[in-house]
Amino acid sequence: MNPSASPLDPLPEILQSLRSACPTLWAGRGAGARAGGAVSAAQVQQAVQRFERFAPLLQQLFPELEASRGRIESELLPVPHMQQALGLPEAMGSLLLKADHALPVAGSIKARGGVHEVLEYAERIAQLHGLLNAGDYAQLASDEARAVFARHQVAVGSTGNLGLSIGVMASALGFQAVVHMSADAKEWKKQRLRARGVQVVEHAGDYAQAVAAGRALAQQDTHCHFVDDEKSLSLLLGYAAAVPRLVVQLAEQRRVVDAEHPLFVYIPCGVGGAPGGVALGLQQAFGPHVHCFFAEPVQSPCFMVEMLAGAGSLPGLGEHPSVYELGLNNRTEADGLAVPRASELAADVVRGFLGGVFTVADETLFRHLCLLHDSEGLDIEPSAAAGFGGPRALLETAAGQDYLQRQNLLPHMAGATHIVWTTGGLFVPPEEYARFLERGRSLARGG
Ligand SMILES: *Cc1c(COP(=O)(O)O)cnc(C)c1O
Repeated sequence: MNPSASPLDPLPEILQSLRSACPTLWAGRGAGARAGGAVSAAQVQQAVQRFERFAPLLQQLFPELEASRGRIESELLPVPHMQQALGLPEAMGSLLLKADHALPVAGSIKARGGVHEVLEYAERIAQLHGLLNAGDYAQLASDEARAVFARHQVAVGSTGNLGLSIGVMASALGFQAVVHMSADAKEWKKQRLRARGVQVVEHAGDYAQAVAAGRALAQQDTHCHFVDDEKSLSLLLGYAAAVPRLVVQLAEQRRVVDAEHPLFVYIPCGVGGAPGGVALGLQQAFGPHVHCFFAEPVQSPCFMVEMLAGAGSLPGLGEHPSVYELGLNNRTEADGLAVPRASELAADVVRGFLGGVFTVADETLFRHLCLLHDSEGLDIEPSAAAGFGGPRALLETAAGQDYLQRQNLLPHMAGATHIVWTTGGLFVPPEEYARFLERGRSLARGG
């Protein structure tokens, strides 16, 4: 950590630290946190209700949703052994984990945003064709409805997980599904999609280029809906819809959130849609008592760069710079987070209240993946491990201490709740996971 990365004198030090790919914390929230830009609580509520309306249909389409009656949900787990393994003292509060790594259907947090956008599109097409006259969503599984969907295409550009969620959901409803993937997308993700009848188009460049190519192709076709990860409000709202269930889970576990019991949430960040949506929902639920921190790889800190640029702090780099412009290479094993440029929509939504952003070295991702396996028996993918560096970054850096002091949190840490959001992993093939684990172990041995 860069010890002098304080928001009061931030820029030269933070920039220096970012450029040298050192783990860096930017904790930028001021005293007067504001609500979520142009997105209202009513819009989030509509996404929550859309998932409810579709639950009977999802239960029919996916046997794994039988027990939850069509809800795609994850557990909130206390992880005391992981807290100990990370060396986090009880005096800092309690560590919990939001287990989106085990979300059914898509195996990652993309099951929220991606599924929501496909459902919203399906709802629109169904209404246009008079398929929902009786308001019976289960009839969208009928041959008649599927024949209508089959004349439409859903396309997306993705490094992997978004493609998985869009592809699986779209093809389950009967849409033609096309996923544009970057060169670094994992082979098993492509295979999984092809096995579901999804058309996978491979592009030579990085993630942003795959998205641009997919977007251009889709624009030529009026029966094609392109899921635009960098611009989509529907995705963001699908992620935000995670929060009502989380509020209930916190209450069930008697975790209070108020001025004396702050809530810290650490969420892996790619373009920022997933963490941005979740942070928006949390802000609407808990106001100033929740402190969201986004986690990015040291080579792909696009969201931190976007926040700094938006504050006018990156002179000469324009308003919306990529990580390449800082001399970084966007190379990371965290394929869900390998994004060179942030979503402007997500940045606008969270700018007024985001606690901050921190970066994590790839080695740390593997060490934490391994620690979580050994301490709690939970298996996640490298991207999903990024949040575990958060509590340390807050507690042990000057920037973090400065934040806790500015927000008057230091007297209340023992009553704090820290949630690390684990965002993916369920469908990682065992051989692949074994390699992740081995890499984490060799690092722990100092190799
Ligand atoms: C996509 C993804 C994220 C981040 O989501 P963005 O919307 O790109 O910020 C985090 N973790 C995993 C595992 C993901 O697949």
